[in-house]
Amino acid sequence: LEEQLRQSQKMEAIGQLAGGVAHDFNNILMVIMGYGSMLTADALLAPPQKEKVEHILESADKGAQLTASLLAFSRKQVMKLEVVNLNDVIQHVEKFLTRVIGEDVQLRSVPSASPLPVNVDCGQIEQVLMNLATNARDAMPKGGVLTIETLHQAFEEPCVMPHDLGSPGVYAVIAVSDTGVGMDENTRSRLFEPFFTTKEQGKGTGLGMSIVYGIVKQHNGVINVYSEPGQGTTFRVYLPLMEGGESGERERGSFAPP
Ligand code: ADP
Repeated sequence: LEEQLRQSQKMEAIGQLAGGVAHDFNNILMVIMGYGSMLTADALLAPPQKEKVEHILESADKGAQLTASLLAFSRKQVMKLEVVNLNDVIQHVEKFLTRVIGEDVQLRSVPSASPLPVNVDCGQIEQVLMNLATNARDAMPKGGVLTIETLHQAFEEPCVMPHDLGSPGVYAVIAVSDTGVGMDENTRSRLFEPFFTTKEQGKGTGLGMSIVYGIVKQHNGVINVYSEPGQGTTFRVYLPLMEGGESGERERGSFAPP
């Protein structure tokens, strides 16, 4: 429990630092981009100069993408909440996931028998799935199986590397498993830190899992990680289930697929 607390305080501190820097840095970038666009729109600017300003703007744009990722991590993002069946969100993103994982990885989908009503930002949950799938693919360079399973479950005692304590209750769970290289203890304990990556230069930014962390936390959810080197990896994402989620939803019809 002490380790969990320590971990959760560490992530809180990193989140505040990253969020603060990203916010201020973003304001600086906005000034650069504002004046830059004014310059490129200036008819009097000679073409070679204009080209240089365009390079400045491109770089500023990359910087803005980076700050956006950091803000996602530190939960400073606006949420567009709607009540949906989690299975529908996953089904909707599956064709994109298939594209992400490529031909050597097989996607296995095991939706829960009953609907899982959750109050979420669908775009953000799709982002979580995309990031998890991208990492799963990278962990299986020789191919393998990516399984996405959903279920409802009471929150169990967090196991290997919880980043947060979570509160007891019934959750909708997305379990994402791969048959890839797995993680050692060091990687497991640092995986949610922004810029932490074990991928070679240029391949990873180290922001994927911190975005996942920020989004899940913003939804009052929890993530557990089960992973050993050579044994593959399972992420379990817990999202609070809506009241009365287990029964009666089908009668109301609001969560049934069209
Ligand atoms: P990036 O993918 O850019 O490296 P992430 O934040 O998405 O950044 O992931 C951080 C690190 O966590 C990865 O570099 C990798 O070492 C580890 N990791 C994440 N997901 C998996 C996985 N499914 N299997 C093995 N390692 C993983």
